[in-house]
Amino acid sequence: MEKTALITGGSRGIGAATAKYLAARGYGICINYHRNEQAAETLVAHIREQFSVPCIAIAADVSDETQVVRLFAEMDELIGPVTHLVNNVGVLFKQMKVTEMDAERINKTLTTNVTSYFLCSREALKRMQPGCAIVNVSSVASRTGSAGEYVDYAASKGAVDVFTRGLSLELAPQGIRVNCVRPGFIYTDIHADGGEPGRVDRISSQIPMLRGGQPEEVASAIAWLLSDEASYVTGSFIDLAGGR
Ligand code: NAP
Repeated sequence: MEKTALITGGSRGIGAATAKYLAARGYGICINYHRNEQAAETLVAHIREQFSVPCIAIAADVSDETQVVRLFAEMDELIGPVTHLVNNVGVLFKQMKVTEMDAERINKTLTTNVTSYFLCSREALKRMQPGCAIVNVSSVASRTGSAGEYVDYAASKGAVDVFTRGLSLELAPQGIRVNCVRPGFIYTDIHADGGEPGRVDRISSQIPMLRGGQPEEVASAIAWLLSDEASYVTGSFIDLAGGR
């Protein structure tokens, strides 16, 4: 089977590292992003030059159903239907207590981090055959709860964990595998969105391995779960959190 991967939120951070990791293993790559066209196009140029695989970028807000349907249709046209999906998109907002959160913020977190995973999986499954696979990107926050920082984000990742379990069971008889990674504290721009760019360094002394993680250390686990080497693995979770 020709392998074509879609990585949502794939233009930066863990998604970008995953795109490169999969390209190095011969996958055609579709990078989804939201607004930062320059970051996406720079990554596309790098992947085409470095790995000589087909690679495109498509802008779409994956929390929006109409845009998700268009994303998959455009991908069909430009690079071929998805065989491997990485539901990687994730947002968090300024650190605050639950008592300070309003509905707009909570709903934005949930639609981006959870609804998009449902919608992208639904569209992918219209195209997938036995042997195809999905990896969802959750977080250790689903275990810790992120008190005082972003409980809305942690709750969205709890939903991703349950979504992984349920979808994996629905699809197991069809030979389509669904797994999940739960990163801990990884050096990406997401922490600046929470208002604390230096968060990973602040927390590193509390991590058993005494350091934050690199995006590539998450990408390798995603790639393994997608690969045929994980052919008997479904509904499973890999925590990449330095022992947390
Ligand atoms: P990041 O560096 O902040 O990158 C976010 C990506 O998501 C960008 O490509 C961004 O595109 C895209 N995006 C944002 N909103 C979108 C939307 N509505 N539709 C489509 N794309 C959208 O993120 P990251 O840290 O690599 O995180 C990746 C995943 O890992 C997330 O699910 C996150 O929750 C999870 N995670 C991260 C950490 C960590 O420490 N970094 C820890 C645990 C879990 P634009 O730039 O165009 O907006």
